[in-house]
Amino acid sequence: MPPAFDFDPHRLGDPALRPIAAQLAAGRRITPGDGAVLFRSPDLLGVGALADAANRARHGTRVYFAANQHINPTNVCILRNTCVFCSYARLPKEAGAYRYTMDQVYAEAAANPYVREFHIVGGLDMHAGLAYYQEMFRGLKERHPEVHIKALTAVEIAHIARIEKMSLDAVLIALRDAGLDTLPGGGAEVFSKGVRATIADRKLAAEDWINVHRVAHALGIRSNATMLYGHVETIEDRMDHLRLLRDLQDETHGFLTYVPLAYHPDHNELGAALGREGTATTGHDDLRNLAVARLFLDNFDHVKTHWIMVTQFISQIALTFGVNDIEGTVVREKIYHEAGAHTPQGLALDDLLRLIRGAGRVPVERDSLYNVIRTFDEGTTAAGAAAA
Ligand code: SF4
Repeated sequence: MPPAFDFDPHRLGDPALRPIAAQLAAGRRITPGDGAVLFRSPDLLGVGALADAANRARHGTRVYFAANQHINPTNVCILRNTCVFCSYARLPKEAGAYRYTMDQVYAEAAANPYVREFHIVGGLDMHAGLAYYQEMFRGLKERHPEVHIKALTAVEIAHIARIEKMSLDAVLIALRDAGLDTLPGGGAEVFSKGVRATIADRKLAAEDWINVHRVAHALGIRSNATMLYGHVETIEDRMDHLRLLRDLQDETHGFLTYVPLAYHPDHNELGAALGREGTATTGHDDLRNLAVARLFLDNFDHVKTHWIMVTQFISQIALTFGVNDIEGTVVREKIYHEAGAHTPQGLALDDLLRLIRGAGRVPVERDSLYNVIRTFDEGTTAAGAAAA
């Protein structure tokens, strides 16, 4: 059960929050209905204070980050015309389509002097099957044996299984043998059938996304979980999504962290249909998604803010809204920049330290499995820590 913590429910301005706060402070699980109340409460600061207390009971003032690098080897995708929220995918002969050669992958991987995790995701490319990724992971491990490979969403794993006519187990085992360490959490979008019919009609169904993670966890491959929020979903859709994630975590304990992902409406069909171009999610909703997740997902150790999507400024505030983990250095993000993100494509280590310290928290560099690499005591810079 989640840790109990000190919190006086009477400090909350919204009376509807008080019984929920009492439950949480006693270390008891809340219901999806409670989660909906947290989402709808006018007292955002109250929800945030509650989430902050729950987070500090687990992690104190520590905030984790990883020195990671995103690599997107192919934007060619067979679902290009059906995932209407996506700005990244291209058809094979469309302008801007690309598929990296192995040399291009290795050159990009070598461009960053300090990286501990490669985060590798791309499109559902008929010419990027099992052999393509096996060769890639083997080559990366030969060149960077100490770097963790977090690669291929559940949607990509299922795609490889389909085109290779293999079982999920067999694909995951083959990829693990080639060097894959963990799975990222992308491709979940929102599990609701109605939402999927509107935004990602032909994408892997919710139960199949969940099953890929279940199979991975059974093989000892840990993974992350996400939800893409801020488009056509309702509060109930969000809570149902979180409930399914919490249920699977009860069953397998295989998820490492939960990362809510903010929808970006530029250069995609959905943004145009909704008349939302240039209008991303609000800071209010970004913070609330993180805080509610911290309170509802009581069996997840970590909740992460993705600064590329919500800006460094919202991510910094999120560190006092229940968040204990912040997206890392990234180096060269492509997918959300295609959809209108105005954030940098990467951050220097010292910029991350400044963000975390500015929120009154202690930066802790972690590896991909949340083992501590180094704690940055006050005043320590990345270069200073490296020299020590
Ligand atoms: Fe392809 Fe993923 Fe984009 Fe859908 S969201 S079109 S699966 S790259």
